[in-house]
Amino acid sequence: MSDCIFCDIIARRLPAEILYEDDSAISILDINPIHYGHALIIPKVHCKDFLELPQNHIPGLFHSAQIVAQSLVTGFKLEGFNIFSNNGKIAGQSVFHFHLHITPRYEDDNIKFVLELKRYESGEMERCADVIRQHILQKT
Ligand code: AMP
Ligand code: ZN
Repeated sequence: MSDCIFCDIIARRLPAEILYEDDSAISILDINPIHYGHALIIPKVHCKDFLELPQNHIPGLFHSAQIVAQSLVTGFKLEGFNIFSNNGKIAGQSVFHFHLHITPRYEDDNIKFVLELKRYESGEMERCADVIRQHILQKT
């Protein structure tokens, strides 16, 4: 056993309901689903969060996500689904090996993000965008 549940699942040291697998990712059922069919798309390389995900694993990961999402839509006759990822403890991450969640959605399923939306004060939107743009420029 390693100290990462998902690495152990990838290496078949722990059981999982595997939905799909290719060279770059493994897709499994979440053991505590929001709805039946709630799937996890997990890169085969260990990385703790989205920022650590090697760029060459991104296309494969999203390819798997699309295959699994399509199968959920067809298999459960879904009208919609969510794809999300928690990054960092404060954001709700509990397994520190990056992964995408794909969850079926249903009419009146009462799943809500209760949000109090903010408004930018005058000039704040531009200042905020400037900070981000400057950091993008430093990376490229
Ligand atoms: P997160 O909280 O975003 O890091 O998501 C981790 C997810 O992994 C949770 O939804 C858990 O229910 C799920 N999980 C934890 N252990 C297992 C396991 N052994 N097999 C399948 N899913 C798991
Ligand atoms: Zn891992």
